[in-house]
Amino acid sequence: MTKYETIIGLEIHLQLKTKTKMFCNCSNDGENQKPNSVVCPICLGHPGTLPTVNKEAVKQGMAMALALSCKINTQSKFDRKNYFYPDLPKGYQISQFDEPLAHDGHLVIELGDKNWKIGIERLHLEEDAAKNIHSTGQTLVDFNRGGTPLAEIVTKPDFRYPEQAKVFLQELRLMARYLGVSDADMEKGHMRCDANISLRPQGEDKLYEKIEVKNLNSFKAVEKALFFEEARQTKLWDKKKQPEKTETRGWDEAKQETVLQRTKEGFADYRYFPEPDLPPLIISEKLLIEVKASIPELPAAKKNRLSKEYGLIADDARILVAQRHWADYYEGIMSDLRAWLFKTKGVAEDTDKAAELWVEHRGKLAKLTFNWLTSELFGLTGTNFKFEDLKISAENMAELLKMIYRQKINSSAAQTVLKEMYETGGDPSAIAEDKDLAQIDDDSTIEDLVIKVIMTNTAQVEEYKAGKEAVLKYLVGMVMKESKGSANPQKVEQILKQKLQ
Ligand SMILES: [Zn+2]
Repeated sequence: MTKYETIIGLEIHLQLKTKTKMFCNCSNDGENQKPNSVVCPICLGHPGTLPTVNKEAVKQGMAMALALSCKINTQSKFDRKNYFYPDLPKGYQISQFDEPLAHDGHLVIELGDKNWKIGIERLHLEEDAAKNIHSTGQTLVDFNRGGTPLAEIVTKPDFRYPEQAKVFLQELRLMARYLGVSDADMEKGHMRCDANISLRPQGEDKLYEKIEVKNLNSFKAVEKALFFEEARQTKLWDKKKQPEKTETRGWDEAKQETVLQRTKEGFADYRYFPEPDLPPLIISEKLLIEVKASIPELPAAKKNRLSKEYGLIADDARILVAQRHWADYYEGIMSDLRAWLFKTKGVAEDTDKAAELWVEHRGKLAKLTFNWLTSELFGLTGTNFKFEDLKISAENMAELLKMIYRQKINSSAAQTVLKEMYETGGDPSAIAEDKDLAQIDDDSTIEDLVIKVIMTNTAQVEEYKAGKEAVLKYLVGMVMKESKGSANPQKVEQILKQKLQ
């Protein structure tokens, strides 16, 4: 055990995916537009303008809060957070201070075969500042981002290891994507994270002064910066020079270290006061019910269900759930295969016989489908692939898998068919027929091919008979070649062995 315990808390800013900005009608896709072209007097803070709350942003914030098991405050309020900086035209940011939209939730994460429950202190809504662009010797400001809706999520100091922070953020991103409230892409700044970290001697309960690390724009950066700070602070503690004031440090990606930015004075700095231009935010029972009903099955629940329903191992289920489209696609295929199985065996659904049959085949079908998706199909999709562009319907993919499962087509021929399906969206049976790829399964045809290979490879046949069993592989290969790849390889080997005796 190490001498010190590491205490980490996170503050996450999540850019919400609304059509318009938080308090005005400007479009919320300013990042894709010409700088300073998506602005209006409200988000530029002209005197005399009045903000109005974007209801969609409230709903998205609520959805995220509910997914994190937070309690929603039926009444919350907006406040002005005052500071002077070129990215803030009003001289204050509209945020929520002492009465946030939601509070007291949690998220369970998995790390090292263990579950860790991370408390959520609060979730509140606010507007984003504009974007400062530092270029050679000057700073430019793009106000397109100013006024973008953000949900700020503050965790409790419940993390003990830097890896947990990374896993938590990955889970949070997945959740935001399932809910459709944010792309949560850290590299693009849709999700930004500040981390607070302090140490304390093992066994103590007290929290010591923390270091706030900013400018963490990737999962890796979060983990690396926290590891760096843990090591740096350990040395300080060893020298009895532990931090005595809260300090803000930045992560320097080039140097791979944190660097001091400033020491912080605390909340008083911002002179928060209630926003006089906005009424309290009241959440009606009706809205709460509506938002609750809109929440889809969340990643953790989906993962458990996939494991249970199809007998997938946790790691496989996790890979599927990591992208909701693929998880849904997988389920579409499996449901097709299930229906097909009952139909071909003449078994009615919802009977004991059907249940038995399903248990017998589902494991094999689930794994077959998983393997063909993740190793074969994923292998065809490039880095710029968008799921919406996939030409292969779940039905056609199921059709191909049926052919493989019934050994109507062998694995290498199936790869050829899949490639063609990927390019043209065609029907697998038609493609297999077109390319003459249907598996040669019938004994007499294979026997003919085997005899031909034995006659033309006498030297190898002698070697095999002399005990060099490895030659069999070569002879199987020759038969496969003779069949243009479409013979059933198991049968080839079996018949070849018989004939060689
Ligand atoms: Zn505006």
